[in-house]
This record gives sequence, structure tokens and C-alpha cells, in this order.
Amino acid sequence: MNRKFLALSCAVLSPFATSSLHAHDVIRVLLLDGPQKAHKYEETTPVLQQVLESADLFEVEHSRSSKESCEDGSYQPDFSKHDVVVMNEGYAAPDWPKATQKAFEKFMAEGGGMVVIHAANNSWPEWKEYNKMTGLGGWAGRDEKSGPYLYHNDKGELVRDQSKGRGGDHGPQHEYELVVREKEHPIMKGLPPTFMHGPDELYDKLRGPAENVTILASAFSKKTGKKGTGRHEPALMVINYGKGKVFHTILGHHVEQIKEGSFVTTFLRGTEWVATGKVTIAVPGDFPNQKFK
Ligand code: ZN
Repeated sequence: MNRKFLALSCAVLSPFATSSLHAHDVIRVLLLDGPQKAHKYEETTPVLQQVLESADLFEVEHSRSSKESCEDGSYQPDFSKHDVVVMNEGYAAPDWPKATQKAFEKFMAEGGGMVVIHAANNSWPEWKEYNKMTGLGGWAGRDEKSGPYLYHNDKGELVRDQSKGRGGDHGPQHEYELVVREKEHPIMKGLPPTFMHGPDELYDKLRGPAENVTILASAFSKKTGKKGTGRHEPALMVINYGKGKVFHTILGHHVEQIKEGSFVTTFLRGTEWVATGKVTIAVPGDFPNQKFK
């Protein structure tokens, strides 16, 4: 990465970019996690940090919430010092203090970036603005009241299904194919039109406000033997929230899945894009077969 060039781009952009990217030579990432069910965040967070630091573009700070610091209001990470929040929260994460929620909404509305990893779309079904940011989510009581279920039909059309039903499910872990739906989007440009990922969980029937969502890649959820839906489920997506940008990936159940080339490359490029609106991180020649060590 040519740091001088990035610093110059920031300086040129600064009159327009305001808080979305400060004049500095790295992208400042705040990696967040906290107590939850079903996912070993204490094991995945250090690996996410290593993956980010391997790109020589991101400066990572980690902050962990606790039930106590959420209840007594002392959990107040300073979003304003960062360009991107990487969310490694999950199902049954404690509610952030109201003031912290408001500060995060302001950070995003004014041009901040967020990356939603896998179960981070399970958190906080009652926090309206968070669900607008993630676009789609699953579990924790989500159903048709949470919003439509989005999928691509066999003609390649995006369906917004308003019918009744639970939001969020997955069958057993297996290897699956991702199909690029937006090949000109900076995050996807240069990726092969289809590529394999897994074994991992393939989330299906995700539901949410689904406003300003662009599905970058889908994955076909097989019914036979995989307890899927027989539909093309959203797998990688971007969402606009105010002036802010969100990259949302359903990939990455645990350490093994996070170390896969398919996850690493899309995660790094997504994180860069939500910060700058551009992607300079190259697609490795052996994508998606490179493995993070
Ligand atoms: Zn999972």
C-alpha cells in the first residue's frame, strides 16, 4: 500500500469527506465484540485483528462490552476517532447504553463505516437504527414484522417477500458457491464470477428493513441434504445509512471460516470500501484458495 498516496487522497477529499475519513495515512478500525451466545468471539476477534493488520492499511483498536458496562452506562467507545467499526457482536449481545447507541447512529449517519460479520446481524432486534444499518438480520424473534425476506429468484430478480415467517435460519455447515451479482462494485471488481466458500453456515430467510441494500453476491441454499430454502440467499451486501456505508457478510462462523481466502479478501476489501468508497486491496492470484496463516 502506498501510504503517501492515500494521505494525499484524503487531503484532496477532506473538504467533502468530513468525518468519513480523516487526514491520516491509515484507516482506523474499531473492532467491537461482547458477550453473546453461539459464537466464540474471544477466539475470532484476535484472528479478525490479525487479518486486518496483514493488509498494512488498517490500524486496529479493540473494545469489548460487558453486561455490567452496558447496564451502568459506562460502555462508551469513542467512535469519532475511527473510520470503521467492525462488528463481531452476536445473538443475545447486551443492549448498549442509549447514549452509546445514539453516538453510533450519529457516527454512521455522518459518514462512518461499519462491517457486519456473520452473527452480528443477529444482535439487537429492537434497536431500529441498527437494523436499518445491517439491512437484514436473523434470529432473536425476527419475523415478518422485522421486514421483508430478500432473495434472488431463478431469473435473477431480487424478490422482497413480505409473507409471514421467521427471520434467520441455516442448515448444517457445508461448502457453497457464491455468485457475484454486482461485478462492477469496487468490492467485487476483479473477483471471479463465482467462487467457493466453506464449509460454513449458509444463513437463509434473513429479514429486516432492507432499505438501501445492494446484494453483491448470493449463495444458493440447497434443500436436499442441507435443510435450505431452494433459493439464492444474500451472502455479501452493502447498505447506505445516511452518509455512512455498511459492508455485511454472512460468512465467518468461526476461526477456520475467517481464515479462508474467500472471507479474507472480501472482508478486507469491504472494510476498505466502507472507509474510503474505493478499493485498492488486490485480489490474490490464487483466490479463494489462499489460506490465512
Ligand atoms: Zn455461526
